[in-house]
Amino acid sequence: MVNTTIKTTKSEEIFAAAQKLMPGGVSSPVRAFKSVGGQPIVFDHVKGAYIWDIDGNQYIDYVGTWGPAICGHAHPDVISALHEALEKGTSFGAPSVLENVLASMVIDAVPSIEMVRFVNSGTEACMAVIRLMRAFTGRDKIIKFEGCYHGHADMLLVQAGSGVATLGLPDSPGVPKSATSNTVTAPYNDLEAVKALFESSPDEIAGVILEPVVGNAGFIPPDAGFLEGLRVLTQEYGALLVFDEVMTGFRIAYGGAQEKFGITPDLTTLGKVIGGGLPVGAYGGRKDIMSMVAPAGPMYQAGTLSGNPLAMTAGIKTLELLQKPGTYEQLERITKKLSDGLLQIAKETGHEVYGGQISAMFGMFFTGEPVHNYADAKKSDLSKFSRFHRGMLEHGVYLAPSQFEAGFTSLAHTDEDIDRTLEAAREVLSNL
Ligand SMILES: *Cc1c(COP(=O)(O)O)cnc(C)c1O
Repeated sequence: MVNTTIKTTKSEEIFAAAQKLMPGGVSSPVRAFKSVGGQPIVFDHVKGAYIWDIDGNQYIDYVGTWGPAICGHAHPDVISALHEALEKGTSFGAPSVLENVLASMVIDAVPSIEMVRFVNSGTEACMAVIRLMRAFTGRDKIIKFEGCYHGHADMLLVQAGSGVATLGLPDSPGVPKSATSNTVTAPYNDLEAVKALFESSPDEIAGVILEPVVGNAGFIPPDAGFLEGLRVLTQEYGALLVFDEVMTGFRIAYGGAQEKFGITPDLTTLGKVIGGGLPVGAYGGRKDIMSMVAPAGPMYQAGTLSGNPLAMTAGIKTLELLQKPGTYEQLERITKKLSDGLLQIAKETGHEVYGGQISAMFGMFFTGEPVHNYADAKKSDLSKFSRFHRGMLEHGVYLAPSQFEAGFTSLAHTDEDIDRTLEAAREVLSNL
């Protein structure tokens, strides 16, 4: 498909070259626009709420590098802190005080976290947390939910969301059956299904891992009582509850979804926002469980670049910016304005939609029926989403190139940005 209203000649040339150099032309699948079709734009630079492509077109961005840019891209405070840190070296491979600073901030913020280990990505955090769940309980089975994404480790690539959902792959070749034989799945928001799994193997389940608000199957909030029910069930069966807050941490609230919903898991994974745009992940939780991690305990996990000074610096600065009074009120207000506006305009222009937002996370499906799980999400009219996505792009709005991804706002998005976005949506939806 050719863009009609924006010129993207350079993007096309660069992406064509990239496809000969890297599988699909990208370093991570969803970026290739395969599910929405058409030409991905190649970025040149980012600032605040905006991105500029290599052809010089400007867009209002609702991807925010998939979550980290919650203070806006390239925030001057983060950039200047990074300049300063850079002069002292990019990696120590040894302790630094910066790790203490970020660790204290994370422990103070996130209710479940008494101790934390830094890693380099959300994938790494989830891999390690599964090992820890098993090490601590002496049990092998884990429960995950259909459409939830916890990175690309073998045992978690079962009914996974994000890029896996986007491409319609239920699983991936190269993952041995033995790697996933201890992963059992249930539909999201289905407490009875989880109960049945516990009843059928009461002493074998190490724990439950989930996105406390789903972002990787599109935006799906937990039903009332779901998180509470999981907390009760896991306790009843001596299993651990793990919130994967790689996306929701410091986004749904400063203390994550666990603060927002008042449910304290045993362990938590983090990523995205805590790296402020540099590669960081983390896992943490109860002190008795975290004390099993090497070298305090026997569960091995390590990383050459883990806790490196640049990543810690970007994380610290980002969290400092988020601590300013009113930030989460502003994120909620601006995102609600956007989400309410989109749903209203879609209805006025004759489209059946279902969606919503919490704090700085939002989503809209092209279906009139409520979406409580991945099966519901898949009822969305994907070809309509593709046309909507392309239309918005041509009107200068960059949305995630997949129905099965949440949208993100930032502190840099202004009322004027939202108004312009809604104007674009009205034009696009009127002609869909
Ligand atoms: C993004 C994400 C991951 C994976 O993080 P990476 O840094 O991409 O490896 C894991 N879990 C959730 C909920 C995510 O949104």
